Amino acid sequence: MKRKITLLLITFCCTIGLGQNNTVDKKVVELLSKMTLEEKIGQMTQITLGTFEEKGKSGLSLTKLNEGIQKYYIGSVLNTPNRYSPDTKEWRQIMTTIQNANSKNRLPIPVLYGIDAIHGASYTMGATLFPQQIGMAATFNTEIVKKGASISAYETRASSIPWVFSPDLDLPRNPAWSRIWESFGEDTYLTSRMGEAMVNGFEGGNIGSKYQVASCMKHFIGYGSTTTGKDRTPSIIPERVLRQFDLPIYEAAIKAGAKSVMISSGEINGTPVHASKYLITDVLKKELGFKGVVVTDWKDIIYLHTRHKVAETNREAVKIAVLAGVDVSMVPEDYSFCIDLLDLVNKGEIPMSRIDDAVSRILKLKIELNLFEGTVADAKQYPKFGSAEFINEAYNAATESITLLKNKNAVLPLNKNEKILVTGPTANSMVALNGGWTYTWQGDKTDELVPDKLTILEAIQQKAGASNVLYTKGADLALENEDEINKAVALAKDASKIILCLGEKNYTETPGDINNLYISASQVKLALALAKLNKPIVLVLNEGRPRLISDFEDKMDAVVQCYLPGNEGGRALAAILYGEVNPSGRLPYNYPRFPNSLEKYNRKYTESLADNEQNNDAKYQRSYNPQFEFGTGLSYTTFTYSNLQLDKTEINSEDEITVSVAVTNSGKVAGKESVLLYLSDLYASITPEVKALKRFEKIALEPNETKTVQFTLNQKDLQFVNNDLKWISEKGTFKVQIGNQTKQFVLK
Ligand code: BGC
Repeated sequence: MKRKITLLLITFCCTIGLGQNNTVDKKVVELLSKMTLEEKIGQMTQITLGTFEEKGKSGLSLTKLNEGIQKYYIGSVLNTPNRYSPDTKEWRQIMTTIQNANSKNRLPIPVLYGIDAIHGASYTMGATLFPQQIGMAATFNTEIVKKGASISAYETRASSIPWVFSPDLDLPRNPAWSRIWESFGEDTYLTSRMGEAMVNGFEGGNIGSKYQVASCMKHFIGYGSTTTGKDRTPSIIPERVLRQFDLPIYEAAIKAGAKSVMISSGEINGTPVHASKYLITDVLKKELGFKGVVVTDWKDIIYLHTRHKVAETNREAVKIAVLAGVDVSMVPEDYSFCIDLLDLVNKGEIPMSRIDDAVSRILKLKIELNLFEGTVADAKQYPKFGSAEFINEAYNAATESITLLKNKNAVLPLNKNEKILVTGPTANSMVALNGGWTYTWQGDKTDELVPDKLTILEAIQQKAGASNVLYTKGADLALENEDEINKAVALAKDASKIILCLGEKNYTETPGDINNLYISASQVKLALALAKLNKPIVLVLNEGRPRLISDFEDKMDAVVQCYLPGNEGGRALAAILYGEVNPSGRLPYNYPRFPNSLEKYNRKYTESLADNEQNNDAKYQRSYNPQFEFGTGLSYTTFTYSNLQLDKTEINSEDEITVSVAVTNSGKVAGKESVLLYLSDLYASITPEVKALKRFEKIALEPNETKTVQFTLNQKDLQFVNNDLKWISEKGTFKVQIGNQTKQFVLK
C-alpha cells in the first residue's frame, strides 16, 4: 500500500514538474492534495487592493475583503489602495487585515502581495528612492544595481510585501515609447547583466529571508518593440531576432534565479503574448526551463477579448490564456476569472493537470518566501528603513548615473562664487526628478509628499549659497508664456552662466504616449531666447526618454543627462555641477537627432551609407549621426587607452580569447571610467551588426594611475542566430574595439 502511494506521488510530481525529495516540493504536493478546485482557482487569481475599498470611504471594506478571500479564495493582491501610498505602519495594518480574513479559511494559504516597487519601495512613504532603471543602466555598474535592488528588497519586506514586479527587461526599439525609462536601454548585453544584478539584489539567493523578495521579470517578451512607439501596440519581430536579442536577457535572469515573470501586454506578429502557448509554455517553461510563476499583466486576459479581439468572450479569453501557460491572472477588479475558469475545468475544456501545474508553482513560491510563517513584518527588524546609510547608496547611484554628454571649453564644473541663473520647468520639481511609479501610478504627487527632499534648484542653492543663485521657472512644460521667458532673459543678464533644466512631464505607460519626439515647443523657445545672450548655458536634461534637442543643442555649451534620478537626484546633480563628484555615467541608448533617424548603435551597415559614401552627396540624408551615441559619457578628467592585447590572433571553435587593455587617468582629478568592449563580426551570412557590446567594467583611477583591464570572450560571444534559429558562429575575422584601440583575430 505504502509503495502504491509513493508511486502515485512520484507520477503526480513528474506531471507538475516537481522533484519528490525536496521538503518544499513535498509540502506543495501535500497542500495541493487537500485543495478543492475552487481553492486552486483562487490561488490563480490576483486582484488589486482597490477592489476592497468603498467609494468615498477610507480604509478597507471588510465585507468585500471577506468576499474576495473567503468566497473566491483569492491567492494574491497587488498595489496600493486607490488613495495614496501607505507608510510601513499602514502596510502592516493592511496586511494584518488581509491575514485575519484569510485565517478564517478552511485552508489558510497566505495571500501573496505584489507591488511595483521599481526604483526602491516606491509605493511606501519614507522609503529610499533610487534612479529609475534607465539611470541605473547608465551607471554601467552592476554592483550599484545589485545593492540598489537589495535595499529595495529590504524596504519592501519592511512594508510586509514579499514580491516586486521588477526588473523590467524590455528592449525598447523605439525611443518614443513611454516605458524606456523603466528599461535598461537599447542593448541586449547591458540589459542582461543589469537584469541579472537586479534579480540577485532582490532575491539574494534566499527569498525566504526577511530581507529579500521574489523578483518578476517583465514584460515577457517583445513589449518594447512597438512599431508605432506607442504603448501596448503591436510588434513585428522575426523569431530569429527575438531569439538573438530578446530571449538571452530572460535566459540570464532565469539563471540568476528569477522567481516569476509577467507577460507582455503586446502582440508579436499578430499573436498577443498572453495567447501564445508557443512563447509561454514551449519557449519559456520548457526550453528555458522556467520553474517559477507566470503572471499576466493588468487585465490582460480580459483584453484578449475586448482589445486584441482574439477571443469572442471573456470565457474564451480565460481558456486561451490558461492553456497558453498563464499561472496567475491579474484580473484585477472582479472575480469573473474565477467563475469562468471553474466552468472551463468542470466542462473538461481545461485539464486539471494545467491547474495543478499553475497552483503548484504558486504554492512553491509562497513556501519559499516563508509566507506560512506570517505575512506581517516585525517593525523592529528593519532599523535601516529609510536610513542615512540607504539614502547615501541612492545618492551614489544617482551620481554614477548622471551622464555628461558635452562640455565645451570646460564650462563645467562651476565655481561656487560665480552667480548663476537656474531656470526651466524641471528645475524645482521632485515630480520631474522621480517620474512615474512614485507614490502614485503617474508619480504626480511627489512634490507634496516629499517636501524635505531637494530639487535641483534647492540643492544648488544649498551648495553655492542662495545669494549666488537666481531663479525663475522660465517656461512651462507645455504652455508658452512670453512673460516667463522675458523674466528669465532679464535675470540672466546678472548671471555669468545659465543652468537650463528641461525635460518632460511625469507619465507612466499609455498616458505617456506622444506624437512628437521633439522636446516641447515652450522649452525650445526658452532655450533659443537664452542662447541669444551669448552666455554659457549648461543644459540639464531631466527626462524618461530622449526628447529631440537638435533645434538648439549646438547653442548649448554643456549637456548633462540626468534621466529620472530619484529623490537624491537634485543633490547628486549639484555635486556634479560643482565638481565635487566627477561624472561617470554613460548613455544606455542612442540619442537621436531627428525623428526619422532612429538607428541603434549596433545598426546594420546599410542603415547608414558605407564609410566611403558618407557625406559625399548632400542629397542622401543617410549618414549615421545620432545626437549622442550609445556609450557616450564624459568626465572632468581624461582617460587614455593603450596597449590593447589579444592572447591569440587565431582561434578554433572551442577556444576562448583573452583581451587586455591599459587605461590611464591622464588628467588632473580622480575619476571613474566604464571600459566597454565592442566586437564586430566583419562578414557573416546574416548581415552583421556594425558592432556589439560584449563586456564592460567600471574602474576608478587616481590622476596618473594606470590599470589593466582584462576580459575573456567565449564562443557564444562570436555567435548569432541563423535562419534555422540556431546559434552559430562562422569562420572569419572579428574586430575588438576598446576606447580608440582596435585589434583583429580570426576564427578558423
Ligand atoms: C504594467 C505593469 C505593472 C502592472 C501592475 C501594468 O499596467 O504594465 O508593468 O507591473 O500594471 O501594476
